[in-house]
Amino acid sequence: MKYQNTEAFAKQQDKEDALSHLRNRFHIPKDKNGNEWLYFTGNSLGLQPKSTKEYINQELEDWANLGVEGHFEAKNPWLNYHELLTDKMAKIVGAKPIEVVVMNTLTTNLHLLMVSFYRPTKTKYKIVIESDAFPSDRYAVKSQLKFHGFDDEDGVIEWKPRPGETLLNIEDLESILKFEGDEIALLLIGGVNYYTGQFLDIKKIAEIGHSKNCIVGIDLAHGAGNVQPNLHDSNVDFAAWCTYKYLNAGPGSLGGVFVHEKHAKNKDLPRFAGWWNHNKETRFNMRQPFDVMEGAEGWQLSNPPILSMAAIKASLDVFDEVGMDALREKSEKLTGYFEYLINEIDSDDISIITPKNPKERGCQLSIQVKNADKNLHKKLTQNNIITDWREPDVIRCAPVPMYTSFEDVFRMVTILETLLK
Ligand SMILES: *Cc1c(COP(=O)(O)O)cnc(C)c1O
Repeated sequence: MKYQNTEAFAKQQDKEDALSHLRNRFHIPKDKNGNEWLYFTGNSLGLQPKSTKEYINQELEDWANLGVEGHFEAKNPWLNYHELLTDKMAKIVGAKPIEVVVMNTLTTNLHLLMVSFYRPTKTKYKIVIESDAFPSDRYAVKSQLKFHGFDDEDGVIEWKPRPGETLLNIEDLESILKFEGDEIALLLIGGVNYYTGQFLDIKKIAEIGHSKNCIVGIDLAHGAGNVQPNLHDSNVDFAAWCTYKYLNAGPGSLGGVFVHEKHAKNKDLPRFAGWWNHNKETRFNMRQPFDVMEGAEGWQLSNPPILSMAAIKASLDVFDEVGMDALREKSEKLTGYFEYLINEIDSDDISIITPKNPKERGCQLSIQVKNADKNLHKKLTQNNIITDWREPDVIRCAPVPMYTSFEDVFRMVTILETLLK
């Protein structure tokens, strides 16, 4: 696509964009004078669909009117509420319904999945993570190592960018497995790296891990609703993600879990239990010995918070209406335009660390600004531009195809250019 550095071009793109109407379905935050923010942090907390209130109100009303009977009599009976989310969530991550469940929060889910899938032995116990893995994931794997009685320094192997580079190279993961694979039990990798925005080849990672009999788990916090990870085809063993980033389900909302179909019927996998992973048919008899459900549902423990699930349902209904194919198509154009405009800025201080190939990234661009300090981020905020600052010098910006316009992108870069001068 041939881009142009003019406001008229940006406006024309919005006119031709078949998804531009979606913006109206979201609350766009405004400043005190009523001017809309240029919101580039959908990778951190997605904006609120206008329909969310109605979905949550429905459950509040059913609770008010029905009390405990709401479990069966609510418009959307609470007992099986999570099932209303499964198909739509499965489509978003490219999974079969039996492979997906919405439950708990991301880090909690990573631990529950590691209970089943991180089964270290005395000699095969190490865990591979990216060197700039999200801190929570690093803490989680280190605590698993310690929990199993291993040294949490020795037990973590970092997949690092090469000296002088910022992105990961799949060949380096191959060498790690080639030389240390016999000691490695688990690969836990961010499918889209939160810092660089690099979208890794998940299928290839699974192949590399499995070639040495390692389990492969993917953290999709920055992937779900952003890229198409095709989890089932990728053959990874498990994955987990949150719904408050690209999935617009509100602060701290419940997470999603994927367990590959090949593990769906394996009732021998060690796991923690509660009444919610017990067979639905006999759950309320309360007297049976534990009988675990098949598929991802077999990792649930508790009856889930319906109000959070209502917010997820509101958002997934919008995703389902549009579909990830259309969103991705727009996303590649929109981020391509953003990239083009950033590269047009006449300054040697600014560069993009995210991969140039649209297939190796989602919507986020991580922009490195030489000699910048947090002041730049502050000035952006004063100009109604909401971005995310990462020390020492990176601004992460996510033009989200669901509600960001080409004009937003144009205005954002125009202001950034002025501030850099
Ligand atoms: C956002 C994010 C988290 C946050 O975990 P919570 O348990 O939801 O607080 C963890 N890991 C990654 C990679 C993230 O991007």
